[in-house]
Amino acid sequence: MAGILVIFDFDNTIIDCDSDNWVVDELGFNQLYNELLPTMPWNSLMVYFNSLCVSSLLASFCFSVSILYTQGRINGVVKELDRLMQELHSHGITIKQIEDCLKRAPLHPRIIAAIKSAHSFGCELRIVSDANPFFIETILKHHGLIDYFSEIITNPSFINEEGRLRICPYHDFTSSPHGCNLCPPNLCKGLVIEIIQASEFAEGEKRFIYLGDGKGDYCPSLKFGEGDRVMPRKHFPLWDLMCNNPLLWKAEVHEWSSGEELERVLLDLINMITIEEGSNTNSAQLISGDCKFQTIPVSSHESLSQSSLSRVTT
Ligand SMILES: [Mg+2]
Ligand SMILES: [Zn+2]
Repeated sequence: MAGILVIFDFDNTIIDCDSDNWVVDELGFNQLYNELLPTMPWNSLMVYFNSLCVSSLLASFCFSVSILYTQGRINGVVKELDRLMQELHSHGITIKQIEDCLKRAPLHPRIIAAIKSAHSFGCELRIVSDANPFFIETILKHHGLIDYFSEIITNPSFINEEGRLRICPYHDFTSSPHGCNLCPPNLCKGLVIEIIQASEFAEGEKRFIYLGDGKGDYCPSLKFGEGDRVMPRKHFPLWDLMCNNPLLWKAEVHEWSSGEELERVLLDLINMITIEEGSNTNSAQLISGDCKFQTIPVSSHESLSQSSLSRVTT
């Protein structure tokens, strides 16, 4: 029987905010952040993306990023976040203050429950995030969740001799760029997923469930195949991109909005996969006799539901 590997994004998926913005807002450095924004090529690009109509988003995204890559102008938001941490340090903000602020980041109690339940059902849990280990581990430890995850893949961070948090890109985009036009230069989550898939398939069959919300979760979502599940957060950029490009993905798509919904959908999917994998019987027969499976909310969005109904069996 295949094991189930659940891969979570972190910002706006496990926690209900963006951890970078949370730190900046909570410590009262919005103005400084806004002053730095015009110097951040990647963020400037995001403002541009958000001003576009959704239907043209992906095409514009690829086109714009490709141009900037070839011109070598993108530094990546991680570099700018590292600069921001330098500014916080120079303004006397300590690591302890950043930690305390991270501990106040919103994390829905039903998501805590969902993580514990998924783990208790035998799933392996990992995080692939564009944040950094200091932010992620501080929050997970505070909520007693760190031991539920077997691996956290993100931009490396460390505290230097001056007591300043340093954040580095996951991919070194100057010496070895990942070359993916869909992702920010510091991290291609799709490449990370391909590496995970290769090592998992070498050990035996695995079924994947991927949860995310952002534009950076689009590339990895394209890497999953039939039998895998992707859970985009409804009305967030990943969901918009998937709705507007329904023919590009092969995995089943199951949207969610709230912590309660994440828990219900995730546990239903685990239940469904367990049933599928636990029997050689025709899955349609199992489905008709299993109420839990039928409660999975398949996307109500028109473009998602029309394109996915043939693949999402309910
Ligand atoms: Mg996110
Ligand atoms: Zn990518």
